[in-house]
Amino acid sequence: MAIISLGSMAFDAIETPFGKVDKIVGGSGTYVAYAASHLTQPIQQISIVGNDFPHEEIDELQKRGVQFDGVEIVPDQKSFFWSGKYHLDMNSRDTLVTDLNVLANFNPQVPETYQGAEYLMLGNLMPTLQLSVIEQLRKRPDLVVLDTMNYWMATAMEDLKKVLLKIDVLLINDSEARELSNEYSLVKAAKKILQLGPKFLVIKKGEHGALLFNEDRVFFAPALPLEEVFDPTGAGDAFAGGFIGHIDHTKNISFENMKTAIIVGSAMASFCVEKFGPQRLKEISRQDIDKRLSEFVQLSNFNISLV
Ligand code: AMP
Repeated sequence: MAIISLGSMAFDAIETPFGKVDKIVGGSGTYVAYAASHLTQPIQQISIVGNDFPHEEIDELQKRGVQFDGVEIVPDQKSFFWSGKYHLDMNSRDTLVTDLNVLANFNPQVPETYQGAEYLMLGNLMPTLQLSVIEQLRKRPDLVVLDTMNYWMATAMEDLKKVLLKIDVLLINDSEARELSNEYSLVKAAKKILQLGPKFLVIKKGEHGALLFNEDRVFFAPALPLEEVFDPTGAGDAFAGGFIGHIDHTKNISFENMKTAIIVGSAMASFCVEKFGPQRLKEISRQDIDKRLSEFVQLSNFNISLV
C-alpha cells in the first residue's frame, strides 16, 4: 500500500565550517520523501509550498513515486524558509531565520486517494497539524511514527503531549529526550517517555548512533564513522525516511524488524550528510545503499566465545 508523509517543503540557507549555500531546497518532508522512496513507493506527501518552489524538484520527486495530491501550492505566497549555522563540532547549530510564509496558515488536508495507507510518518511540524492528520484518517495506520524537535517542547508542550498519546514510535535526539523527560540518564528518560504514549522510542545521538527502546528491551545502532560530515541538515529526516521506508518495504512492525529499520535509517542519514541539502540522497543507487548496509553490519559484528 503506501506511506503518508507529513512535513515541511522549504528553502534553506545553510552555513557549515565547509561552506555556505544561500537558497537550496530542503524541508523535513522533502528529506523524508527522498530517503523513503529508495526503499518503497508510493510516498503520499502532505505539505504546502509557495509559487517559488521549483517545478523540477516536484518532477524529480514524482518520478520517484512521491504523490502530490496532498501538497498545496499557494500561487501568491512564498515557501517556508529556514536558515541555520552549524558550530565547529557539527553536532549543534543555531537557527538564524524561520520565515513561516505559507506554513503560517497551513491546514493539512488528507486527500481521499490517501485514505487506507498502512503507515504514517509525521515529520517535524506543529503538533496541532500532526494531530489533525491523524484525526482525518478513517482507518488507523498500522504504525504511526512521529518526529519532533525541542522548539515544539518549548512552545507547544500540551499539544505535543496530546499527539504522543496517539502514536506508536517517537523519534527524537538525546537532548530532546532529556528535555521531554527532565531526566539526564537516557534509560530513565526512555522509561518516562514510554509512559507518555509511544510504544517505541528511538533516541538519536548524532555521530554516536541511535538507541531503540520498547518495554524493557533496548537496541543500539552505531553511526558510521565518516571522514567528513559536510552538512548535517536533514539527517534526522533522512533517518526517519529510511526507517519508515524499510517498515513499508517489509510490512513488519516487530521490535526485531525495527532494529533493521534503524540501521537503514542510519545508513540514509550517513548519505545525507555527505553533501549540502538532499543532493546526495538523489544521487545514490540501490547498490550504494546495500554496500553501506554491509558496512554497518561489519562495524559491530564480532565473535566471542563465552566460557
Ligand atoms: P533536521 O536537520 O533533520 O532537523 O531537518 C532540517 C530541515 O527541517 C530543514 O530542511 C528545514 O527546512 C526544516 N525545518 C527547520 N525548522 C522547521 C520547523 N520549525 N518546522 C518545519 N520544518 C523545519
